[in-house]
Amino acid sequence: MIQDKAKVIIIGGGVIGCSVAYHLSKLGWNDIVLLERKQLTSGTTWHAAGLIGQLRASANMTKLAKYTQELYFDLEKETGVSTGFKRVGSISVALTSERMEELKRSAAMARAFGVDVEEISPREIKNRYPHINLERVVGGVFLGKDGQGDPANIALALAKGARQEGAKIYEGVTATKIFKNQNKVTGVEWTNRHGESGRISCEEIVNCAGMWGHSVGKMLGTNIPLHACEHFYIVTEPIAELTQLPVLRVPDECAYYKEDAGKMLLGAFEPNAKPWGMSGIPKDFEFDQLPEDFEHFEPILEMAVNRVPMLEKAGIHTFFNGPESFTPDDAYHLGRSPEMENVWVAAGFNSIGIQSAGGAGMALAQWMQDKEKPFDLGDVDISRMQPFQGNKKYLFERSKETLGLLYADHFPFRQKESARGVRRTPFHEHLKSKGAVFGEVAGWERANWFSNNGQSDEYRYSWKRQNWFENSAREHMAVRENVGLYDMSTFGKIRVEGKDAESFLNYLCGANLSVDIGKIVYTQFLNSKGGIEADVTVTRLSETTYLIVTPAATRLADETWLRRNQKD
Ligand SMILES: Cc1cc2nc3c(=O)[nH]c(=O)nc-3n(C[C@H](O)[C@H](O)[C@H](O)COP(=O)(O)OP(=O)(O)OC[C@H]3O[C@@H](n4cnc5c(N)ncnc54)[C@H](O)[C@@H]3O)c2cc1C
Repeated sequence: MIQDKAKVIIIGGGVIGCSVAYHLSKLGWNDIVLLERKQLTSGTTWHAAGLIGQLRASANMTKLAKYTQELYFDLEKETGVSTGFKRVGSISVALTSERMEELKRSAAMARAFGVDVEEISPREIKNRYPHINLERVVGGVFLGKDGQGDPANIALALAKGARQEGAKIYEGVTATKIFKNQNKVTGVEWTNRHGESGRISCEEIVNCAGMWGHSVGKMLGTNIPLHACEHFYIVTEPIAELTQLPVLRVPDECAYYKEDAGKMLLGAFEPNAKPWGMSGIPKDFEFDQLPEDFEHFEPILEMAVNRVPMLEKAGIHTFFNGPESFTPDDAYHLGRSPEMENVWVAAGFNSIGIQSAGGAGMALAQWMQDKEKPFDLGDVDISRMQPFQGNKKYLFERSKETLGLLYADHFPFRQKESARGVRRTPFHEHLKSKGAVFGEVAGWERANWFSNNGQSDEYRYSWKRQNWFENSAREHMAVRENVGLYDMSTFGKIRVEGKDAESFLNYLCGANLSVDIGKIVYTQFLNSKGGIEADVTVTRLSETTYLIVTPAATRLADETWLRRNQKD
């Protein structure tokens, strides 16, 4: 019998939904209900390769990945469910000096968060991974506490941990309809596998529906931009000389390798991926896989046979192709949806959902408890997404690129190449004719720098001095010593108007907004912990009117912060 009332309903019983249920229950939440349309883990989670790494591109993501790894280490002891988690360590290998630079930088950041990481030479790589061919290898990093585990059992362990604290998990139950009162969800209609249906009222609701997240988001009145793509790996027949090995990543060849029970798993993050599920995900999708595409995988396999020659003789036991969701910027979606007061999301995990689930679940649960981010989660905050990014054609084009970006060089200033030209200012063509080289922010094409006559109008990415350094310097000096014009078209503009405008902004902002008409104040919106929520300029237009100018990428987030604090 399914209850008719809950404090929170979680939609989706993959590793993410289970982690959110686990962490909310650890915070003492009662009346947690998780609905899963088929069986737990039957979407994407069951077939993940199970790599659990800690090296991430930003400080807070590293902190969360470290938390996940530590949580999984203890989970088996806590729940009695065998998670298969082993700290086998991992090696990431660089084939270029640029990649080595990136690895060193990531390692330095990870070290700052207490992650054990060593830079290792080609010889040390060979000592730890005797099967590797060192051709072109420049160096690498070794993380001793990185691991691998059984994704389905990790999810089931989290589910058990949540159940032990009283959470209710219903399988074979689909959330089919939502009831709303203005911008609050008040309840969910469900249908079970026997065709029965019912209704549960709730105070909060969480979208953990993985690649269904976009359509479940729509049902909830929210924009969750993500698209499924095909993701491939092969598993070999048992190989006689294979013993336990660290996970090996060779991002310059788009490949990862995992030894498991004497077999080798080889997975790929190829640069031109295959989007899937354009006309919706089949209704009966459950523990399903997609058709093989050997031609697509072959270039990766060829490089892999050269890199780990033992693969040449190994028979292929499994060719696996499974769908996973990818977001426009390769970061997952977390937090409170800007459109609704009590709708939360944790979806779109870009092929690192297992290693992210612990940290993401912990951060979201705390955010739901405090109604404020526990720390800076701007990288993944759902309110960074723009309304147009929910467009299916845009998502289709962009997702071809984002899968491969996971293993691409993450150069500073790197621009996305797909789905460009969405928003242009009236000056676009004029600036282009003057040599403008464009970059994209929130869909806007912006003139980032101007090439000289005869100079190539392209970014040449580098970890060192940029190829546009002199161009930018000249622009800077021209404005400093002469007169320049800034095109602010792409910035967000928010007008705050009313008799309480001054006191409202003085409540939200760090600076004093009781200034003369015409004055511009540079300031921040601060939260109750004194943390920075927004970085803006505020211009007083009249006694009762202000114009807030915000970065293009955070307009929606900043407007949402204003509205939520406006109260009545
Ligand atoms: C081939 C492959 C290899 C991978 N390898 C790794 C790896 O090594 N390491 C790693 O970290 N990640 C890996 N991943 C990624 C990882 O598997 C995913 O990021 C993760 O499983 C996503 O979990 P989820 O809970 O968001 O989604 P899912 O597991 O898909 O869960 C979502 C659930 O929501 C349910 N649902 C949807 N709609 C409704 C509804 N209306 N009502 C009720 N329930 C609903 C679905 O049935 C589904 O079970 C891999 C992915 C693939 C495809």
